[in-house]
Amino acid sequence: MRLCHQNGVAVVAQGGNTGLVGGSVAARENTVILSLSRMNQIESIDPIDFTATVGPGVVLAQLHEAVAAEDLHFPLHLGSEGSAQIGGLIACNAGGSHAFRFGMMQDLVLGLEVVLPDGRIWNGARRLIKDNAGFQLRKLFAGSEGRLGVVTKAVLRLFPAARDRATALIAVPDRHRALALASSLRADAGEFLTGLEFFEDPTLDLALRNVPSLKWPLQGRSPFYVLAEVATSIPGLRLEDIFERALEHLFENDLAEDAVIASSEAQRLALWAIREELPEGARLEGRQIKHDIAVPVSQIAAFVDRCSPLVERILPGVRIWVFGHLADGNIHYNLSPPVGQNDFAGRDTDLSDCIYRTVVEFSGSFAAEHGMGRTKVAIADMLRSPVERDVMRRLHRAIDPDDIMNPGVVV
Ligand SMILES: Cc1cc2nc3c(=O)[nH]c(=O)nc-3n(C[C@H](O)[C@H](O)[C@H](O)COP(=O)(O)OP(=O)(O)OC[C@H]3O[C@@H](n4cnc5c(N)ncnc54)[C@H](O)[C@@H]3O)c2cc1C
Repeated sequence: MRLCHQNGVAVVAQGGNTGLVGGSVAARENTVILSLSRMNQIESIDPIDFTATVGPGVVLAQLHEAVAAEDLHFPLHLGSEGSAQIGGLIACNAGGSHAFRFGMMQDLVLGLEVVLPDGRIWNGARRLIKDNAGFQLRKLFAGSEGRLGVVTKAVLRLFPAARDRATALIAVPDRHRALALASSLRADAGEFLTGLEFFEDPTLDLALRNVPSLKWPLQGRSPFYVLAEVATSIPGLRLEDIFERALEHLFENDLAEDAVIASSEAQRLALWAIREELPEGARLEGRQIKHDIAVPVSQIAAFVDRCSPLVERILPGVRIWVFGHLADGNIHYNLSPPVGQNDFAGRDTDLSDCIYRTVVEFSGSFAAEHGMGRTKVAIADMLRSPVERDVMRRLHRAIDPDDIMNPGVVV
């Protein structure tokens, strides 16, 4: 880093290369790609501090396995966990399906060691939950996408391993009632609720059509579905009782049309497979434009109601796939071309701009996952307030005045 700094060579940190916004590739000549893959040591797992101290190249699934062997749990779960690395996950402030319960990466990082653009090392790899001594630098680096420095070590927060889990798939009459359902489930399942995912029927239809291994467990079909999971580290607790009581309330209040609780681990995994294969269903359909966005949970239904007609007006017949994380408002709002067409008739940018503008109208985020990378900088310039942009630019300039860290990303 020191040599690159002295010679004006740009540095792009690269982890598992799973981010989908062009953040870990070189965009100009005279750039070093710095792979962190070999810094993949798990230095320690501490069952008293409930922490793991790890190198940035540790793959998330590798960490899951290592902490499980100590009866502990690291609660970040996402589709890329077999390849994404801790450094990249921190740099992108990844969230995943348990974010509403355990937070995003910025909440799971207690300490960091970072090599700064000039080669100096900030050693903040402390194992403290309470560290109130000034600016929370670890939070600044979480989500910095390699723009402020290179993460070389992380202290991560662990939790007791879950000993039991129960999963239910619930059919819902419409997307508005799904919001009341989420609220009711959160009240009834309390801190046991660890997963709350949603998908709409057309998205399901696509997955069932394109991924033949999926089995649909309910009698009929409904407009909207919720996949809910409760988990506990307390042995002997009957999670099914919690679910049964919660479901009773849903049926009493007309919030659910049908439901199934997985009765075996195989069935539980089969329910999750439906949710996890939704992106694959769309991928196999051909070209698509993906939008990983977020709005406040209370606005999910209103957002889709408002956005979809606008999108359909831009390109009649465009197919819209909606699914995501119900408890944190993160929506995957993906598009396929009209039936019989291979592309979006040159309207790609108009479609995405319309979606992002509508997200901002709903006080949402145009980058709920993956970060901004290079692909969303133009959108940010268009939609971000001048004050926010200015603060980000100044922060970057203060730490990387020569603009050698991942130039072109974020700001
Ligand atoms: C199938 C799939 C599902 C996903 N699901 C989710 C999801 O549910 N929720 C979610 O939040 N995200 C999701 N993601 C995106 C996820 O954020 C990225 O997969 C992950 O965070 C990037 O990690 P990586 O190691 O692959 O980093 P890379 O892709 O290699 O890099 C990403 C960025 O981090 C920087 N970087 C990498 N390592 C370091 C380091 N050591 N120090 C500083 N900067 C570094 C790079 O320069 C780049 O800007 C998904 C991605 C895929 C492919």
